[in-house]
Formats: sequence, structure tokens, C-alpha cells
Amino acid sequence: MDKVVSTKRPRAKSAREKGLPRPSRAEAEAAVRTLLRWAGDDPDREGLRATPSRVVRAYEEWFSGYNDDPREYLKRTFEETGGYDEVVVLRDIRFESHCEHHMAPIIGRVHIGYLPRNRVVGISKLARLVEVFARRLQIQEKMTAEIASCLDAVLKPHGVAVVTEATHQCMTTRGVHKPGVTMVTSRMLGVFRDHAETRQEFLAAVGMRGAIHGNGAG
Ligand SMILES: [Zn+2]
Repeated sequence: MDKVVSTKRPRAKSAREKGLPRPSRAEAEAAVRTLLRWAGDDPDREGLRATPSRVVRAYEEWFSGYNDDPREYLKRTFEETGGYDEVVVLRDIRFESHCEHHMAPIIGRVHIGYLPRNRVVGISKLARLVEVFARRLQIQEKMTAEIASCLDAVLKPHGVAVVTEATHQCMTTRGVHKPGVTMVTSRMLGVFRDHAETRQEFLAAVGMRGAIHGNGAG
């Protein structure tokens, strides 16, 4: 299944880019106390007293991706290909993100492929790229497209393929309560979109042969 997310659309600006003032730590902790009361508990009881500060520290980790510009990061780290002209595939990059609708965890794996033109990046850099986008509030379709567009813009390869498989806890633990459902999104650019053979080579490498078609992906 391909999700159509236009790369032409201007990227949504973060609060920092818009110059929105960041609330203080005390304000953030007070908001957590409010949610604890809303849930029906007493934020002043022994077991919950340190919870607001723990939650705010957890947020700093879960949403640390707002502090990084993945494009700048990748630009600094590419290497020459040394003549390598075959598809590079990195599969099973685990990620943890949060959905922007419920702030519930999205947990899954990203598979990345690209056909280098002049530049390649190290494995750890691709994993880091996924992490930067995952550590923001996300929808899976958008994250998949962002990873692909970023690689495409910085490395300028012959093509980029990104497939994301994930479970959404807003769907498994609430609402429709459908555990075991995995959502698959993909973004195919360049040769991966235009050449079925190259696309199939990538999908076979990540164990998804025939599952995804190129049309409508770009
Ligand atoms: Zn959700």
C-alpha cells in the first residue's frame, strides 16, 4: 500500500522555527499534574510525587528530534562511493515514535534502500536519521516520506526507497483495540519508483517481495 505524501508541500515548521516560546519546566510539570488529576488520581500521594518531573524528563528524550536538523547532519557525514554503484539496503532499523493524534507510542522498523550516485553514508548515520524523525510527534506516512525526501535531497542518489512497518498503540490499546495489526507505508523515489525490477530487488532484500507497487508513490 502506498501512501501519497507530496514532497512539494512546504515542510511544517517546528515551534522553535516559528519562534514560539518554550514553556518552563515548572509549567510542563504542572500540566502533567493536571493530567494525573484528570485521570482520577491524586498527584500529591507518595507514589506520584516525582512523576511530573520524570514524565518531563522522558519527554526530553522522546522528543529530542526537534533539536536536530537531519539535513545538516547528513551533509556533514557523506563519503565518496569509491565506484560502488549497486543498491545499498539497510533493513530493520527499529524506531520508537509517538503519534501526533494521541501521543501514543508507534513502534516499528524502517527499511531504507538507495542507489548511490556519488555519495554514501555510514549505517549509523541512516539509523540516526530515522531516530531524528522518530523523536518527534509523527504520523507514519509523514515520517516515511520525510526520511526518503531527506536522503534524496542530501545524497542526490539515483533513487530512494523507504518502507516502514509499525504498530500504533493508539490502535492496539484503545479505540478499536486491534492488537497485532501492522501498518505498512512506503515511499519510492527515482529508480525505485520508475523501475519495477529495482523496486522488487529492494523489496526482496527486506523480505517484502511483491507487497508494494511503485505507482502512486511519488
Ligand atoms: Zn494515534
